[in-house]
Amino acid sequence: MSDDLQALLPTGRVLTDPGLLGPYLHDEAEWAPAGTPVAVARPRSTAEVQQVVRWCIERQVPIVPRGAGTGLSGGANPIDGCVLLSLAAMAEVLEVNAAESLAVVQPGVVNDDLRAAVAQHGLWYPPDPASAPWSTIGGNVATNAGGLCCVKYGVTGDYVLALEVVTGTGEVVRVGRRTRKGVAGYDLRGLIVGSEGTLGIVTEVTVRLRPGRAPERTVAGYFDSVVDAGRAVAAVVGSGVIPSALELVDRHCLEAVDAWKHMDLAVDADVVLLGRTDTPGAAGEAEAAEMTRCFEEAGATFAAYSTDQDEADALFAARRLAYPALERLGPVLTEDVCVPTQLVPEMLTRIQSAGARHDVHIANIAHAGDGNLHPLIITQPGDDAATARAQAAFEEIIADAIALGGTVTGEHGVGLLKRPGLAREQAPEVIAMEHAVKNALDPHGILNPGKAIPVLLT
Ligand SMILES: Cc1cc2nc3c(=O)[nH]c(=O)nc-3n(C[C@H](O)[C@H](O)[C@H](O)COP(=O)(O)OP(=O)(O)OC[C@H]3O[C@@H](n4cnc5c(N)ncnc54)[C@H](O)[C@@H]3O)c2cc1C
Repeated sequence: MSDDLQALLPTGRVLTDPGLLGPYLHDEAEWAPAGTPVAVARPRSTAEVQQVVRWCIERQVPIVPRGAGTGLSGGANPIDGCVLLSLAAMAEVLEVNAAESLAVVQPGVVNDDLRAAVAQHGLWYPPDPASAPWSTIGGNVATNAGGLCCVKYGVTGDYVLALEVVTGTGEVVRVGRRTRKGVAGYDLRGLIVGSEGTLGIVTEVTVRLRPGRAPERTVAGYFDSVVDAGRAVAAVVGSGVIPSALELVDRHCLEAVDAWKHMDLAVDADVVLLGRTDTPGAAGEAEAAEMTRCFEEAGATFAAYSTDQDEADALFAARRLAYPALERLGPVLTEDVCVPTQLVPEMLTRIQSAGARHDVHIANIAHAGDGNLHPLIITQPGDDAATARAQAAFEEIIADAIALGGTVTGEHGVGLLKRPGLAREQAPEVIAMEHAVKNALDPHGILNPGKAIPVLLT
């Protein structure tokens, strides 16, 4: 079967040798199951993607799209017998239009590369997942990725103007617009954003850009307890200050980064909150002072705005490296719950209780200003009892987030890991609507089946 797929694309673009498939067999969600693809296709153009999709439709072969594979929910994990469609080689920045403040890119462009390309024109592409050095714009669109500055500037979907998509019926369509405004028809662009490869293959993305921004001031707060840090988060958000980042990172994460990168992060605290403002001038000064006050009143043992840019950058770099650093210690089960900001202290309390009750080690990082928490449950490889306890803690944290009016995923997507939780979060009628959309746009049921939406109960 794979011979005629091989013939479809130029030599070397279709891999079937099991020895070469390794890098495509899993994303970064270590706990999510993964099957074995019949082939990995690596198209370089929309026409090649379309050919692969049509080949799969004719044979009823599932397709799993993949960007860089940094996903944390199993969304890009192959299904047995699928064609794994890697978009990573479609990595050209096609246009940067300074007059219209937009850029057009292929899906395999890495987030940081897009930022660098538009920075040359004095422009800025805000969505900045901590995976920005590796993750692709196509993957960011498919997961509607968030990031550090999203607390002020919004998520990927807020910057997607238009998409070119290969549909589940093998057509190439364009949805959205290039204009600043436009309300014509249903928002199909919005439907594809965050659909995790289940409604179409994104082959081109038009993004909105902002002017380059002013340098940031950083406020660091040290806390003895994660719940005090949570109270500081609620206070900052309640004060009306909109920080350009408000990140939480705990001692476990900082120590893991230090042990790996030897960054000499001499932080004498259980939890660090990092607030930033990019508001220029005296107003920025006032915002930094207000964040410092909120940190102190919530019980910070130390709070100050950093005059040392290198130190501030080191702490943010450590925040970005926290996840890969913890992965080195053992399999990590990553949560992505998001709760109302004023309930962050309550959610952090419940996370601590879940860790204690199930006797599992939980580290914490968070896009705290968004209420988006990433408790990271760490186990030792081969410890089945600990694995079962971690799974129980994972489900309990999800149930707590839903009970507090939150959601199972703030930014990583549902993939495989959060399908059971989403079934609890959504009403059966809503799940039925999702299946109706899926059936309409993917009538052959070949686009990343079994991901992103819960099972339809009949
Ligand atoms: C260290 C680390 C830090 C992270 N930090 C953040 C963060 O701050 N914020 C955040 O939101 N996420 C974060 N993530 C998660 C991850 O990086 C994001 O979900 C990212 O958007 C995935 O991009 P990717 O290119 O790796 O996509 P993949 O993992 O390859 O795929 C993700 C999903 O998108 C689908 N997909 C990929 N490309 C396409 C396409 N062209 N068309 C249709 N579907 C497609 C896949 O099928 C899959 O369902 C982090 C991950 C790591 C490892």
